Amino acid sequence: MKLIIASNNAHKVKEIKKILSGKFDEILSLREAGVNHETVEDGQTFMENALKKAREITEITGHAALADDSGICVDSLGGAPGIYSARYASSVCCNASDEANNALLLANLRDKEDWSAHYTSAIALVYPDGREVCAEGYMYGKIIDTPRGERGFGYDPIFVMDGEQRTVAEMSDEEKNAVSHRAKALEALLAKL
Ligand code: IMP
Repeated sequence: MKLIIASNNAHKVKEIKKILSGKFDEILSLREAGVNHETVEDGQTFMENALKKAREITEITGHAALADDSGICVDSLGGAPGIYSARYASSVCCNASDEANNALLLANLRDKEDWSAHYTSAIALVYPDGREVCAEGYMYGKIIDTPRGERGFGYDPIFVMDGEQRTVAEMSDEEKNAVSHRAKALEALLAKL
């Protein structure tokens, strides 16, 4: 059976292919499958968005599709930025670059005592016959006030996982991929297949 990953993010595609390679005959990114489609992510939860993306790609291609939706949730901000992680800074300015998102998060945390946070990854796998398999994974830690590190992306320079001194942006790809929210969600999904 062929699997289409509802993403063109090279990091995600590589990680997903590595973990699920034994379960499918062929695994293709959207680009490799020749699909040009942008899902409107208007769900209220990570899983609603992941399911919507996977269902649309299954509908378009006729093949099984896997989608992930992820973000960072900060306890003292009521779980924000959450599902709005990628576009957090666009609520106050026009540019939601990683730097702008991180700066806004630090500004919103300035008067808070509790800086604990976690990444969430929701993964949905939808088959052409309508079967759906879902799983979530988390990485717990805290936000720090000064960005450090050049690796990773998004909020990694200001996030330190529990039991670590380094930010995720100071860890190697291999180290991050062994413990990340996405790796844990994929492993939980694999256990259900
Ligand atoms: P998406 O699931 O690719 O739409 O990612 C949503 C957003 O959440 C990203 O743009 C990042 O801001 C944030 N995010 C998700 N996973 C990570 C991660 O592993 N590191 C840093 N930021 C992340």
